[in-house]
Amino acid sequence: MKELSKYYTYDVNKVVEEIRKNNSKRVLIQLPDGLKHFSTTLIDELRSTLRDVEFVVDAAPIYGSCILNNNINKHYDLTLHFGHEPYPYTTKTSSKVLTLDFLSTLTPNNELLNKLVELMKTSNIQTTAIYTIHQHKKAVEHVIKHLESKDIKVLNKGNNATIMGCWFNDALKHLSSTDSYTIIASGLFHPLGIGLLTKGTKHIIQLDLHRNEVRKLNDTVEKYLRIRYSKIMNSMDARNWSLIHGVEGQYRSAVREELVTALKAKGINFYEYQSTTINQETLRNIDSRDVDVYVITACPRIPIDDLQDFEKPVLTPGEALMVLKEVKEYIFPW
Ligand code: SF4
Repeated sequence: MKELSKYYTYDVNKVVEEIRKNNSKRVLIQLPDGLKHFSTTLIDELRSTLRDVEFVVDAAPIYGSCILNNNINKHYDLTLHFGHEPYPYTTKTSSKVLTLDFLSTLTPNNELLNKLVELMKTSNIQTTAIYTIHQHKKAVEHVIKHLESKDIKVLNKGNNATIMGCWFNDALKHLSSTDSYTIIASGLFHPLGIGLLTKGTKHIIQLDLHRNEVRKLNDTVEKYLRIRYSKIMNSMDARNWSLIHGVEGQYRSAVREELVTALKAKGINFYEYQSTTINQETLRNIDSRDVDVYVITACPRIPIDDLQDFEKPVLTPGEALMVLKEVKEYIFPW
C-alpha cells in the first residue's frame, strides 16, 4: 500500500461508505491506463476493510470517462471509476457508477515555479489562465499563489481548472483577456488541445510535474495546425465521405445531425459506421476506393493523435464542418 499512497491519494472512506450504503457485493474497478498497475494494491487495501465484497478490475483501455463500458458495468452492483471527472457530454448511464478522485501527490517545487515565472517574463506574459488534468488538480492553488506573488495575473483562480482532451472547461471565456494558457500536465495531449481550441493565438505553457520541466509549445501547436489545414485542403473537393461514430458518450447525435445535414446540403455521397474501437486497423478494414475522406465523430483526438498519417484525410467534426460550411477559421473540437 505504501507504494500507492506515495504517488496517489483517494478517499477510501467514501468508497467504503458507498459500497456499504448500496450493499454492493460485486464491484468493478476502472482506472485510467497508466494507473492500472496500482489495481492490486488498491484491491488489497479495500479488501482489508470490505472482506465480503468481490472486486474485479476492468482491464480494457480507459482513456476517459466518455466511455464507461456499460456492457461490463451492468453485471456489477457498483462501478468505481477512478481518476476522471464525470464526462460533461454524457447522458445518464443505467449502471451505478461512482466517479472518484485519484490525485497525484506531486507538488511543484520552487525551482520549477521560478522557471515558469522566468519563461513567462521572457515571453512578456503578464496574464494567464491555468488548467490541469484531473490527477494534478491539487497543485493548481500552489501554482496560482506563486505566480501572483511574482505579479503574474491568473484569470481563473477559484474555478475548477480541470480539462479533458475534448472539453476545456471555461478556457474560451478568457481568450480575449489572457496572454497565455498554463497547463499542468505531462505529455502533449492536453496542452495541444488548448492550443488547437485557441487556434494558436496564445502562448501555451506546459508545467510538467513528472519531468520537473516547463516549456512553451507555440511552435508545436503551429506545426499541428499546419498539418490539420493540409488535411482540410485535401478534403475540399471530395465527393465521397464516411462518418465513423463511437458508442456511449462517444456517440454524438447532435454532431452527427449537423454533419449529415451539411453533407446533404452539398449533395455529397456519404456512408456511416459505428465502432467501439477506432484505430488504423479499423480504417484499414473498412477502407474502400469509394471513400475519399473519413470523419471521426467519436473522439476528436483520434484523427489528430492517432490517424494523422493515414493516407486519406481523417478529420475531426470541427474540421469537417470547416470544409462543408466553407469556414476558414480553425474549429476544434466540433
Ligand atoms: S478526448 Fe476522447 S477519450 Fe478524452 S474525454 Fe474526449 S472523447 Fe473521451
